[in-house]
Amino acid sequence: MIKLTDTLTEKKLEFRPLEGKTVRMYVCGPTVYDHAHIGHARSAVVFDVIRRWFEYRGYKVIFVRNYTDIDDKIIKRAREEGIPWYEVAEKYISSYEEDMKALNVKEPTYKPRVTGHIREIIEMIDGLIKKGYAYKSGGDVYFSVEKFLDYGKLSKRRIDELLAGARIEPGEKKRNPLDFALWKASKEGEPGWKSPWGYGRPGWHIECSAMSMKYLGQTMDIHGGGLDLIFPHHENEIAQSEAYTGRTFARYWVHNGFVMVNREKMSKSLGNFFTIKEILERFSPDVLRLFLLSTHYRSPIDFSTGRLEEAERSFERLTNFLRIGEVLRGLEIVEGKGSPVSVEAFRKEFEEAMDDDFNTARALGVLFELVREANLLKDRALREGKISKAEKLSLLEAVDFVEGALRTLGFRLEEEKREEGIEEELIKLLIEVRGELRKKKEFALADLIRDRLKELGIVLEDLPGGTVYKRI
Ligand code: ZN
Repeated sequence: MIKLTDTLTEKKLEFRPLEGKTVRMYVCGPTVYDHAHIGHARSAVVFDVIRRWFEYRGYKVIFVRNYTDIDDKIIKRAREEGIPWYEVAEKYISSYEEDMKALNVKEPTYKPRVTGHIREIIEMIDGLIKKGYAYKSGGDVYFSVEKFLDYGKLSKRRIDELLAGARIEPGEKKRNPLDFALWKASKEGEPGWKSPWGYGRPGWHIECSAMSMKYLGQTMDIHGGGLDLIFPHHENEIAQSEAYTGRTFARYWVHNGFVMVNREKMSKSLGNFFTIKEILERFSPDVLRLFLLSTHYRSPIDFSTGRLEEAERSFERLTNFLRIGEVLRGLEIVEGKGSPVSVEAFRKEFEEAMDDDFNTARALGVLFELVREANLLKDRALREGKISKAEKLSLLEAVDFVEGALRTLGFRLEEEKREEGIEEELIKLLIEVRGELRKKKEFALADLIRDRLKELGIVLEDLPGGTVYKRI
C-alpha cells in the first residue's frame, strides 16, 4: 500500500485510485519564456519518481504535464528578443524537452499546450458565468471568490484575512480584490483569441483546470506541483473546477519543497538560480538526480556545488559496486555457507521506504547500507583470496538488486558505465604492464605506475588473488 502526504487534509493517506489500478495525475508544467532552472528540475524529477514508483507497483499512470505557452512573460520576452511570441514559446519548449530528456524524465502521456485548448477554456469560463461564479467586466472575466464557500481550503487561508492586505490594482476591473482573471482582454498588438467577451487570452489558473479535465476527467487522482503553487494557483484551480463541476477536483494534492541557495529560495526573481543546462555541463544527469533524491521531496533542499560534488562521490560508490562481479571472478570458491548478504531484507526495506510517501532519501540510504555491507564481504574475500558459493551469489544478487532499484528511481546508468568501461580497461592494462615489469624486476618503473595511479586517486592492492584497484 502506497501512502502519500496530502496537502489538503495535511495527512499521510493511503493511496486508493478512483478506478482500478489507474493513477490519473496532473503536474503543472513550465511557463515557457526562459531556460528551466534547478527548481524545475526538482519538480520534474520528484514527480517522475512518483510516477515510476506507481508503475513499479503495477499501476497504469496517465501523466499530464502542461505547457503555459501564452503569458505576459512570454509576450515581454518576445518584445525583448524581437521575435514573435509563439517563437519564444517554441524555443523554450524545445529547451525544456531537451532538459527532460537529459534528466531521463519519462515522457508524459499528454503534454497539452494552452494555445491548443482555447475552445475548452472558453467553454469552462462560459459555464462559470452561467452558474453565477464568474462575471464579465469590460473585456475581462473574473471568478468571484466570495461565491465559492470553500475558498482557502488548500492553502488554509481565510477570505477575511486575505482581504485585509488586498487591493484592486489600477486598471483591474474586478469587484473584489481577491477575484482572479479567467479571461483577459488583449491590448492592441498583443496576441489573443476571439471569445464571447471580446478579443483576449486566458488567465493562468483556468488553463490547468480545463486541460486536466480534458485528459483526466472531472476528478483526478493526484494533482502535483511545487509548494509555491499552492496559493494562489492551486487554490484557484480548486475553486473554479469544483464550482464548475460540483465534484472533487483532485483527490490528493502533492507538493514538492523549494530549492534553497544560502537559505534563500532559489528563484528567477532573486536571480540566484542555476539553469539545468549549466549544471549538466559539470555534472552528469544521474549525479543531479542523486542529489535531488537524497532529500525527501517535501523538504527544502540546499543547493551548492559542494553538495553536487558530494553526490558525485556517492554515485561513484554505487557504480563501482555494480562492477563487483569482475573483481570476484578470480577468487577460489570454497565449501561452507560463510556469511552471505541478505539482499531480501534490504529489498523489503527499500520498498517500504518508497511506499511510505516516496521516501527516496531513506530508500537510497538502504542501498548505500547494502553496498557498505557487501563491500566488507568483498574486501574480506579479496584479502583471503577465496569466497563461498553462497557469499558470491549473494553479492551478485546484491548488484542486480541495486542496479534494478536505481533504474526504478530513474537513473540511467548506461552512460557512466560506458565511460568508466574505457577507463577501467586502461587501468587493467596498466596493472598488467606493471605485473610484467615486476616479473622482470623493473621495480622502479613498476612503482612509478603505482604512484602515478595513486595521484589520480586509484590505489592498487596486491592480494593473493592478483592485483586489484580501488578509487579513493
Ligand atoms: Zn497549474
